[in-house]
Amino acid sequence: MLNVPAPAFPASGSQQRAAAGGRSKVPLKPGRSLMDWIRLTKSGKDLTGLKGRLIEVTEEELAKHSKKDDCWICIRGLVYNVTPYMEYHPGGDDELMRAAGADGTDLFDQVHRWVNYESMLKECLVGRMALKPLAATTETCCALPEEKKLLNGMLPKNKVLDTSSKDLTPSYDWFQTDYLVTVVIYTKQKGMNSEMVIVDHQDGSLRVDSILRDYSYLLHIELSYAVQEDITVHIAEKVGKVEIVLKKKDNIPWSKLGQPLNSHNSFIKCTDRALLVCSSARDHIASNVSILSYNLNERSCFWMQGYSGLYYRKCKLISKTEVTHDTKLFCLMLPQSTHLQVPVGHHVYLKQIIAGTEIVKPYTPVSCSLKSDFKEPSHHDSTHLILMIKIYPSGLFTSELDHLQIGDYISVSNSEGSFKKSQVQTLEDLFLLAAGTGFTPMVKLLNYVLTNVCSLRTVKLMFFNKTEDDILWRNQLEQLALKDKRFEVQFILSEPKKEGTGKQGKISSSLLSEFVKRSKKDSKVLICVCGPVPFTEQGIQFLQDLGYSKEEVHSFTA
Ligand code: FAD
Ligand code: NAP
Repeated sequence: MLNVPAPAFPASGSQQRAAAGGRSKVPLKPGRSLMDWIRLTKSGKDLTGLKGRLIEVTEEELAKHSKKDDCWICIRGLVYNVTPYMEYHPGGDDELMRAAGADGTDLFDQVHRWVNYESMLKECLVGRMALKPLAATTETCCALPEEKKLLNGMLPKNKVLDTSSKDLTPSYDWFQTDYLVTVVIYTKQKGMNSEMVIVDHQDGSLRVDSILRDYSYLLHIELSYAVQEDITVHIAEKVGKVEIVLKKKDNIPWSKLGQPLNSHNSFIKCTDRALLVCSSARDHIASNVSILSYNLNERSCFWMQGYSGLYYRKCKLISKTEVTHDTKLFCLMLPQSTHLQVPVGHHVYLKQIIAGTEIVKPYTPVSCSLKSDFKEPSHHDSTHLILMIKIYPSGLFTSELDHLQIGDYISVSNSEGSFKKSQVQTLEDLFLLAAGTGFTPMVKLLNYVLTNVCSLRTVKLMFFNKTEDDILWRNQLEQLALKDKRFEVQFILSEPKKEGTGKQGKISSSLLSEFVKRSKKDSKVLICVCGPVPFTEQGIQFLQDLGYSKEEVHSFTA
């Protein structure tokens, strides 16, 4: 089998299906896997045709390079010569050609904003656009220098960068005692909870990202003095006040909290947060572009820092246990100086440097078992992440992950996801369609609904696997069905080894029409689907054909 990662460019239709782990994959030629691409980028070959020079590219110049054998593409203001990458792109060359000689940013963001193209294409970098297509976004950063004077107190409202949400603009303040520094964020949002605040203290800087619906309020400060590693976060849910308590290392009075860092005190759409990070990366490049004798090693170092817009911290692997013959539970411990709780149905990104190139893949944290009680989130939930990961022998990322030893560290991003608990709040019937590791988002969801949603009458899981041996947590699922009468599980096997374990089959309309019947007429229903992209797409289509509305179907995707 070929070894192909998610495409650096979104594919569409059949090609997208093919590249995403489905049955029909884009047949790349032998020697054209991601690993082969990485090798080529390390070979020292001049992939841009510019002998390492970086240039300013006008729109007219970009448009000239629009052929398969001479193809330049602009992403976030940076221009890449993707001609040598054509044969290695899992979505196929046609997909890349959709952005040939033009700005491919939107096309790229549609599907795989998180794919680290900067790292994958760093040796294809031609330079930057002479005209900045993202000027409006970049300008939001320009408010920052003024703030430098003001960090000893609460900032005035007009410092906030997004004007459309003025009334709900958060603000912050800080105070101190001999031993402690307390930073207070007034989010002005009722119903705040600890999943909505992500705090990191790394290398002397404090970063607090408060997620307020689709907006992010970021506090990002290089602290004046050293503080101890452990931090405490208190949230006053009703008034939306967040307190971060830091312990001073030296008990001296602080005259100011610190110096503002990139995007400090910004209140913007979560999706734009990534663009801000990327545009700052672009500005960094832009300043180097003017130096035509730009040093290639320096360029490599810059890219290694990673600018895909995700924020990472290093987590320690503390245990690795077998779930099935090819799937393992990885238990990661968050740093003491991080507060991160991943909401139900959301995923994080893991990042590894493989052969000198940053590779990023999404994974969905699970609970430690199907018996966890969600009423009281355990201490473990806020200090650890548990990931159930299938190891593919020829998989680029997981085969490397499998080599991690207890005590090793791996970079873990903030969480993302579109699932909202409000989707299940007053639910009566919940149907779950999972294939293979598509089971992972269902774990926390099952635990959550069975302990928190009083209106729930039925929860049914249809779990698709190849063989009996592939069924994840089969025993736990059967135990749960015995313990809770509302829950039912059906196993569907596409390649059963022996008779009698479950139904043989594949996802189909007839299978679903029986399974997703409402427990009573007009009951409030949600159907969640997760698995290989073609599986999910087929499931959604069958459900639509069966008359379920968009709001009644949720698919887990990146
Ligand atoms: P890849 O290199 O991508 O290959 C995977 C397999 O497909 C290999 O066997 C490879 O040989 C084969 N293959 C790939 N392309 C081709 C091709 N063109 N032709 C033939 N064969 C091909 N996974 C989990 O295990 N647990 C999770 O919790 C989880 N959560 C996820 C959450 C989201 C939102 C998404 C989108 C995915 C999630 N995944 C999860 C999948 C995960 O992100 C990776 O895709 C997976 O781990 C495989 O990565 P890899 O680099 O090891 O394999
Ligand atoms: P797998 O073992 O290859 O397959 C599991 C089941 O799904 C099998 O019964 C299989 O039937 C069926 N299936 C596979 N491809 C299909 C297709 N194209 N159409 C219909 N049925 C299909 O699965 P896996 O290796 O664990 O892969 C799990 C997938 O889930 C990965 O692609 C992963 O990226 C995805 N995932 C997504 C999320 C998310 O988006 N949140 C989370 C976790 C996992 P056949 O034998 O007929 O192939």
